[in-house]
Amino acid sequence: MGRVKLLREDGLRHDGRKPDELRPIRMQVGVLNKASGSALVEYGATKVLAAVHGPREIPQKHLLLPNRAILRCRYHMLTFSTHERKSPAPSRREIELSKVIREALEPVVMAEVFPRTAIDIFIEVINADGGTRTASVTAASLALADAGIPMRDLVVGVAVGKVDGVLVLDIDEVEDMYGEADMPVAVAPSLGLVTLLQLNGVLTREEFDEALKLALKGAQVIYNIARETLKSRYLGVKVEE
Ligand code: ADP
Repeated sequence: MGRVKLLREDGLRHDGRKPDELRPIRMQVGVLNKASGSALVEYGATKVLAAVHGPREIPQKHLLLPNRAILRCRYHMLTFSTHERKSPAPSRREIELSKVIREALEPVVMAEVFPRTAIDIFIEVINADGGTRTASVTAASLALADAGIPMRDLVVGVAVGKVDGVLVLDIDEVEDMYGEADMPVAVAPSLGLVTLLQLNGVLTREEFDEALKLALKGAQVIYNIARETLKSRYLGVKVEE
């Protein structure tokens, strides 16, 4: 396959963004009336729906814990979310992502408040254009907050990549496919915690430090939007940052 040019002559990316620019981010909470909590999150064309059920008792009592709630997560891509029809059966990738998304959320959920219950998070990728795991973390965190589950912080996700030798924020599918590296990160900004960090490809030590800085900067912007989304729904006021 021929090399795909990801940076233009003017230094902008293939979609016209600057290296440190996010895609347009949109968020809504409380979009479903049957789930305990829900959120719809878009990073550019990537669109993810998260729904939370619980905390609740479940028939499989042997799974429950005496001192805290168990958190379960299912990440799933809808058949029409990709350019090729995606098989509805769970793939290895979806099983892995379900686990890493759950682990990204566990440090902030105050599971000890609800012993002997289960909190289920269902994530449906409606349209995939890169960064679905990071948009899923953000959506799930908002859905948990919308369900009224006490949390120590919100967790938000964003991926940094390296394209044509340059570090870029919030990569899309083309940059993910043809770039040299891709590093999804999830952060609980107020706690100063990184709860997910994966790296696909190769970065030098200096590039890694720079990439993490870029991710934290992007995460802070996404975090502010997430907080504003929750506040404007529940307080009916617009928050001035
Ligand atoms: P992420 O969505 O978190 O970036 P990947 O790096 O595995 O996860 O995938 C990058 C992108 O590749 C996805 O966002 C999606 O646009 C595309 N993709 C992933 N899996 C599939 C698939 N099974 N079929 C078609 N496209 C896919």
